Amino acid sequence: MADAPAARLAAFLEQLEGARRARGVTLIVVTKRHPASLVRELAAAGQRDFGESRHPESRDKAAALADLDLTWHFVGQLQRNKARQVARYADVLHSIDAPELVEALEGGEPGDERPVRDALVQVNLSGDPARGGVAPDGLDALAERVAASSALRLRGVMAVAPLGEEPAAAFERLARLAERVRAVDPAADWISAGMSGDWREALEHGATHLRIGTAITGNRPLGG
Ligand SMILES: *Cc1c(COP(=O)(O)O)cnc(C)c1O
Repeated sequence: MADAPAARLAAFLEQLEGARRARGVTLIVVTKRHPASLVRELAAAGQRDFGESRHPESRDKAAALADLDLTWHFVGQLQRNKARQVARYADVLHSIDAPELVEALEGGEPGDERPVRDALVQVNLSGDPARGGVAPDGLDALAERVAASSALRLRGVMAVAPLGEEPAAAFERLARLAERVRAVDPAADWISAGMSGDWREALEHGATHLRIGTAITGNRPLGG
């Protein structure tokens, strides 16, 4: 079956191999709206990092696959009132875009289990405040807030290329914004960028974490 997800994973990894050797690019397979069985199939083929964007779907999938000890990346918009629930199962939070979210993640009852989570500050490259992510002029303050948080470990930046712009131009801006986050903490050098349609451009501009869905999973089931 040439088009089975595991075969597409192998083909994708082959394309990535040079970049991975050069600087350790992490492939995150985004499995939103797909069943846990698909994740299991890809895990059996060696894939360890998976991305999800919707709570509680993501929670249920992580629970169903707890035996596999996978690394879960939450890449969707984080709601303040759900953030702590997401942090229970998500190892990496890609979408920190407001100080209120950091505050919510620091809250909770005494005695709550509260592992320190890896965190990326999501930057809005579109100029449209309705899109997710902090505006570039708020990036430095938010990165400092995350770096100072007891609930989070600042790892870098995340962004989605805006529609209606060359992804290469957007990722070039992101690379410069990422430098500002490294000025806050030199170890915060992750750049989460690149999806099925624009990962080559993202890699060219320094992406360290690719978030790939359909190119590996096939089309997402409709609805939900
Ligand atoms: C769904 C999603 C992806 C994967 O998109 P594809 O185009 O299917 O590769 C990546 N990042 C985010 C934030 C997503 O929501």
